[in-house]
Amino acid sequence: MNCPDCGTALRRKRAARCCGCGRSISDYVAAGRRREKRLEQLAALFSTALVLAFFSWAGFFALFEALCVYVLAALAVWYWGRATFRS
Ligand SMILES: [Zn+2]
Repeated sequence: MNCPDCGTALRRKRAARCCGCGRSISDYVAAGRRREKRLEQLAALFSTALVLAFFSWAGFFALFEALCVYVLAALAVWYWGRATFRS
């Protein structure tokens, strides 16, 4: 983080003034902290969405798998029944 006026590195972020030019930096630091917080929130939101998407995808896949097993079982029963009751 650098001073917006003179570019001096703000080593002490809690300081109210820049050590290079004496400009008040509390607003600048607060804005930067807000931006960081927003980025963190965005990252948290993104990861949450990713996890939710993964779980919904996995859920859909499990549903599809169960449907396949059900259809296969039904086909097997149908074949078994046809073979048994025809003869
Ligand atoms: Zn400065």
